[in-house]
Amino acid sequence: MNYESSVMNSALINGDLEALRRVPKADLHNHFVLGGSRRYLRECTGKEINPITRPLSSMDEMHAWNAQNIGDYFNSSEGRRMLINAAFEQVKEDGVTILEIGEDVWGLGEFFHGNIDELVNAFETSHKEIAPEIELRLQIGMSRHCDIDYLEDCLSHFWGCKAFYSIDLYGDELAQPIENFKSIYRRAKAEGLRLKAHVGEWGTAEDVRRAVEILELDEIQHGIAAADDPSVIQFLVDNHIRLNITPSSNFLLGRVKELKSHPIAKLYRSGVDVTINSDDVLIFDSDVSKEYMRLYQCGCLTAEELNDIRKNGLKTI
Ligand SMILES: [Zn+2]
Repeated sequence: MNYESSVMNSALINGDLEALRRVPKADLHNHFVLGGSRRYLRECTGKEINPITRPLSSMDEMHAWNAQNIGDYFNSSEGRRMLINAAFEQVKEDGVTILEIGEDVWGLGEFFHGNIDELVNAFETSHKEIAPEIELRLQIGMSRHCDIDYLEDCLSHFWGCKAFYSIDLYGDELAQPIENFKSIYRRAKAEGLRLKAHVGEWGTAEDVRRAVEILELDEIQHGIAAADDPSVIQFLVDNHIRLNITPSSNFLLGRVKELKSHPIAKLYRSGVDVTINSDDVLIFDSDVSKEYMRLYQCGCLTAEELNDIRKNGLKTI
């Protein structure tokens, strides 16, 4: 066992979160707007943003939390930059060494004067100033409820920009059929982007398979519903599809009954490429180190399995 693996192993066994924070790890499912450091935002704004502590019964409750704790407060170029800084502060505190985050296409006109270089610069400046040692993978984000013509119009400013690594689709998974996004994903593939989408969080195992087939996805954010169907599990294994899973978020949004029986264990033990990530730290109190610790302490995965998943997330693909 190498040095980092043995630190991880004893950190889990001893319940030592600080030691766990010093072990390198990836965060490949992080929405920076709600992914910031609570401490940093309190210091900058005086605002105390508290996480939820019990499972919510719907996405509406999450939106209500959002309105109460975040609201319009950060809806300015300055506010957006503060949230980007907060995200880098947070992952630095967490010991993350590979971070995949990015702006929603909607944010370009709203916060960066429609100037793609200004948008990219905002992320790269925060990266350089706060956590230059972290590998940043910049992502293009889209909300699933948006009209396709509108998205294509926004995306025309992003195509051709070599700073981006991946594209992701999120928001209400049931808002419109996945087929509607096919042309966008064909173009994204031609642009050399890694293709991701949020699927199988609220939807079914079949939704996961269809999204991979139709959009030619490389990775799925969540995808936990796949665990309900052995043929979909095998499909993910055979096609080397990665699932970027966020356990506390799944529990607090009522997608799983308890952490102990989270489907990540079944998916991992079936040979699916899985990673462990934060999703939205401010609402779910779910930094990556805590996610590893919780999965160990509830008995969902062993220390050896968790270390294997950690190392898997750090692999270049
Ligand atoms: Zn997400």
